[in-house]
Amino acid sequence: MENGVRKDYLLDRWVIIAAERAKRPSDFKAKPSPRDMGKVCPFCPGNEEMTPPATLLYIEREGNLLEDRDLEMPRRSDWIVRCFPNRYPAVKPRAKEVIAAENKLLYRTRAYGFHEVVVESPIHNEQPSNMRLKQLKYSLMAQIERVSTFYRYPSVRYVQMFRNYRREAGASLSHPHSQIIATEHIPRILREEVESSNKYMEREGRCIFCDIIELEKEGPRLIYESGYFVALAPWASIQPFEFWILPKKHSASLLEITSEELEDFSKILKTCLRSLSEALGDPPYNYVFHIAPKYPRGVDEFYHWHLEVYPKLAVWAGFEIGTGMYINVVPPEATAESLKAEIEKYS
Ligand SMILES: [Zn+2]
Ligand SMILES: [Zn+2]
Ligand SMILES: [Zn+2]
Repeated sequence: MENGVRKDYLLDRWVIIAAERAKRPSDFKAKPSPRDMGKVCPFCPGNEEMTPPATLLYIEREGNLLEDRDLEMPRRSDWIVRCFPNRYPAVKPRAKEVIAAENKLLYRTRAYGFHEVVVESPIHNEQPSNMRLKQLKYSLMAQIERVSTFYRYPSVRYVQMFRNYRREAGASLSHPHSQIIATEHIPRILREEVESSNKYMEREGRCIFCDIIELEKEGPRLIYESGYFVALAPWASIQPFEFWILPKKHSASLLEITSEELEDFSKILKTCLRSLSEALGDPPYNYVFHIAPKYPRGVDEFYHWHLEVYPKLAVWAGFEIGTGMYINVVPPEATAESLKAEIEKYS
């Protein structure tokens, strides 16, 4: 029943669910990270001169949230969230124009965009799975504020918010942080998701994500439901313990989220990440926000924003590289069951 080859709800992406190779959660238990002892953390308060001046700072004064930014020197160290340009950016605001095609086979464009780091807490080991809810909300608020700023640049078409957790998932520093990359491209996965949701709308007259939520809410892949959100293990999960969080109310972009919704989102995010951490001994993961790209005609209203969480538990090897198909040894139904059980322990 659980085996077979499954297709993603939207993408032309296929996964072989190989449940007979199934592993128990204990087979995935992560090894504890080596402690970065003796090294100075450039993201800890007091070390701001090791990173570029902040483009946005949140400061708390007698219960009020204030905003500021750094001048070159001195830099503020009394922040609770700190955003600044990545020291080694993948894209740059002053990228030179390059000739689009030098040859019909060798195509390139300029690497224009913005690449920022968001330090999510002044506390070195406060990760979202154990973060104070107010802090988690502020960190998400700051990220949303930066994304909105980047979207106002005429050339920016898409802004990716993402989080790499632990070295195995690409984080070079352990201090809690996320990253934001704004580009003038609409990356392939976003383009395919948008095209797919448009086609579905034409055919069915409904939002595909709203239909996914309605279908999965009653089924074996539901992990958790809060006032405004659902967390589910997607039908064609490509990784063990993959899960998505989606707003129940149709909304194309995270940028329109209300304060109350963001508070609820912080809660469900923390709940799910904590259960993942409890189930597997704090594994590495990547999470990515998918929000509506910006088209010349504006944001696509048929899109429905969501967060995708990819624990890094399987190694993609020859088959995955050669085919773009995946093998997942943990059926999403089993993922949902394990994560649900962890959540129940705490409620
Ligand atoms: Zn630190
Ligand atoms: Zn929808
Ligand atoms: Zn997506």
